[in-house]
Amino acid sequence: MIVKDKLKTLYQLQQVDLKLDGLLEERGDLPAEVEELEKKIGALKAQIKENEDYLKKAVVRKKEIDKELEDARKRIDKYTDMRIKVKTNREYDALSKQIDNSKEKLQELHKELEGIQAKESVSSRDVEKLKKEFEEENELYSTKKVELDELVSLTHDEEKRYVKEREKHSQKIDRQTISRYEMIRRATRGKAIVPVVRRNACGGCYNVLPPQRLMDLRQMEKIFACDHCGRILVPNEIVEEAEHDG
Ligand SMILES: [Zn+2]
Repeated sequence: MIVKDKLKTLYQLQQVDLKLDGLLEERGDLPAEVEELEKKIGALKAQIKENEDYLKKAVVRKKEIDKELEDARKRIDKYTDMRIKVKTNREYDALSKQIDNSKEKLQELHKELEGIQAKESVSSRDVEKLKKEFEEENELYSTKKVELDELVSLTHDEEKRYVKEREKHSQKIDRQTISRYEMIRRATRGKAIVPVVRRNACGGCYNVLPPQRLMDLRQMEKIFACDHCGRILVPNEIVEEAEHDG
């Protein structure tokens, strides 16, 4: 593809992209708001699940603790009975040590149980609070999502047409040029291809172009960019041709 045609196609591509930008602009902050709410809802769901998982585990652990407490009490009773009947000091001391160990175990289990119960009540309260928050955010999300979907469907056909048109133009240009174009567009948040405007200035940043650059541009042997803003410069005759072609 000769430089002239490349520039023309790039310019046409940009015209389509600007129309697409216009469509997106009509949606305003709504897409960002919907996305933000989606994230919030996801985070709330995860927090609720985390708390509910803890509560489930707590029930299981409490049952285990009950059983362990019972076992420890039984051991204490058994060793106490045995201690009454022993004959030697050594046996007596050994059993006393077993009883102490079991008592210690009892204390540990009680402490763990208290900890679980405290955490359970915090978790239950949190779940309630989080669920309420979730409902509120979810309602807001549903409203905004419907609003956005309606907006999107209004311009759906138009958007589809532009996307197709965009594809048609971009297919003709090499990847390297396309990515250069897209990079400039991202950096400038708008136009990447600009004509020369009054008094030989760049149509993007309005800095005056040096005479040599103007001459280069007319030759159309290469793609030239503005030294100040980096936008690709396009001779006016090409702009006219591109707009004439539609
Ligand atoms: Zn410029």
